[in-house]
Amino acid sequence: MRMRHTNFMRKFHFRLCSLLLVLLQFGFAQEVSFRITPLHPMEELRADALRAQPPVEHGTFLKPDLVELVRLDPAIKLDIRYATSNNFLGTPVYMQARAFLQRPAAEALLRAHRELKANGYGLIIHDGYRPWYVTKIFWDATPDDKRIFVADPAEGSKHNRGCAVDLSVYDLKTGREVEMPSGYDEMTDRAFADYVGGTAEERARRAVLRQAMEKQGFQVNPREWWHFDYKDWKQYPILNVKFEDLGQ
Ligand SMILES: [Zn+2]
Repeated sequence: MRMRHTNFMRKFHFRLCSLLLVLLQFGFAQEVSFRITPLHPMEELRADALRAQPPVEHGTFLKPDLVELVRLDPAIKLDIRYATSNNFLGTPVYMQARAFLQRPAAEALLRAHRELKANGYGLIIHDGYRPWYVTKIFWDATPDDKRIFVADPAEGSKHNRGCAVDLSVYDLKTGREVEMPSGYDEMTDRAFADYVGGTAEERARRAVLRQAMEKQGFQVNPREWWHFDYKDWKQYPILNVKFEDLGQ
């Protein structure tokens, strides 16, 4: 009898946990990141990436001038998931939760943030400048069929140049990130900038964000509604400086 009771409780507990997990995925879709299974353990990936060298670039570039976004306006919110386990790799990649852009891009972003106030929104940043070794970690961790969503380290990414930003908007009244047609970093076609599914409200919010960013010289990534490239990205070199080395 006691045995049966324990079994019943175990099964009940299991069902309850499964139910909570499902509710969590639906109820807080924007807060829980899409996951893949990394192809290698993180410590191995990190060690390899730190040993590797970024591609050699030829030509002349502007002198990097990375600006920490929250210093421009403390109402710019951060949700740096790569500094937590809540990201597509399920483990922290950044040692610090910080976001930087090259100065002209940062100032353009600030203008977009201020304009969005009229719509009742503020910007919430998921990522900005990304050291090159992190791009290498992402690439080496990601299976072939998902690699369209990550940049090839042989080319470097616009994040590496401090000219790309991943962001969404939060509601100024509630302080919470709003629902969009997909979650941030979701590796499905719901992430596409012209995805026609989702609710009308979600698509309208996506359009408000895109218009505000485009007006300031950013271009959306057709595969990711949250990713924007600043127009002058070609003028900046690929950087491999860690956040820890960018000062406080
Ligand atoms: Zn991005």
